Amino acid sequence: FAINMDQLQLDEELGKGNYGTVKKVLHKPTKVAMAMKEIRLELDEAKLNAIIMELDILHRAVAPEIVEFYGAFFIESCVYYCMEYMDAGSLDKLQGDGIPEHVLARITRSMVRGLKFLKDDLQIIHRDVKPTNVLVNRRGEVKLCDFGVSGQLEKSLAKTNIGCQSYMAPERIRGESQNNVGTYTVSSDVWSLGLSMIEMALGRYPYPPETYANVFAQLTAIVDGDTPELPDDFSDISKDFVSRCLHKMPERRASYAELLQHPFLAQDKEKDIDMPGWVASALAYREQKLREQQQQHLASQLGMS
Ligand code: ADP
Repeated sequence: FAINMDQLQLDEELGKGNYGTVKKVLHKPTKVAMAMKEIRLELDEAKLNAIIMELDILHRAVAPEIVEFYGAFFIESCVYYCMEYMDAGSLDKLQGDGIPEHVLARITRSMVRGLKFLKDDLQIIHRDVKPTNVLVNRRGEVKLCDFGVSGQLEKSLAKTNIGCQSYMAPERIRGESQNNVGTYTVSSDVWSLGLSMIEMALGRYPYPPETYANVFAQLTAIVDGDTPELPDDFSDISKDFVSRCLHKMPERRASYAELLQHPFLAQDKEKDIDMPGWVASALAYREQKLREQQQQHLASQLGMS
């Protein structure tokens, strides 16, 4: 079925991204709760139509590790994209002060399986692997979203945002500066996976912006500096896994099949991990932190007056 705006009841805002807003909506005919992303694009109708057509391939991206796509449409110069609502949000907001190793292994296995499915079954390279693009629900399911399927959409979003957190592999950072777009291969996503794992383990981005004078210095550190590692209290097996992702040379990075066979993920497969329990505690921790921040903010305001 094709979704349109008339069928949707708009609920609360779930978050703001670089390119638009994500709202919770109810699809009235089916009573399905969805997340709707609004992307504002200054494009003519033909180009907007091309984007909607290109997004159609997402109907085939059905796997337990992929956020389900329900449909897309445009109104004026906005593209609206409807997907499965994930009630625990993105991992960047759940990582707290760092995700424990056994949970990280389970999350990583979902990510690798999702990335392998995209590549093997749909010939899609994700191109934007990072904790914000990994969504979680209270059932403990972990799913990927926001992968690059529409060339036209990608072109239109362009490089307005370099951001202060780059998950780009060294060869891509070098390639961009040489305006060389041919350097993107599936192993660039493997780098981003490794970097995301370190971020989740630390609870913060591994190249903290405050350490660098500017974005250029930060990108130089990614290309030329030491590769980051998991914290000391992580096992050697987990550290070895990450080092298989974070080689500076893309051809030395592991394939998805190799990663799935690595002891870090092979062991995880045999384990019984309480993911719903972890999600509940991560959400509770986050709420407590937000409350503390609000109280501090209030206290500082009262102090000033
Ligand atoms: P970005 O551009 O940074 O990747 P998005 O625009 O994709 O961010 O999303 C913004 C925020 O909206 C996310 O950080 C996430 O918390 C929330 N969000 C996005 N998609 C969903 C979804 N399907 N279900 C629930 N929350 C979502």
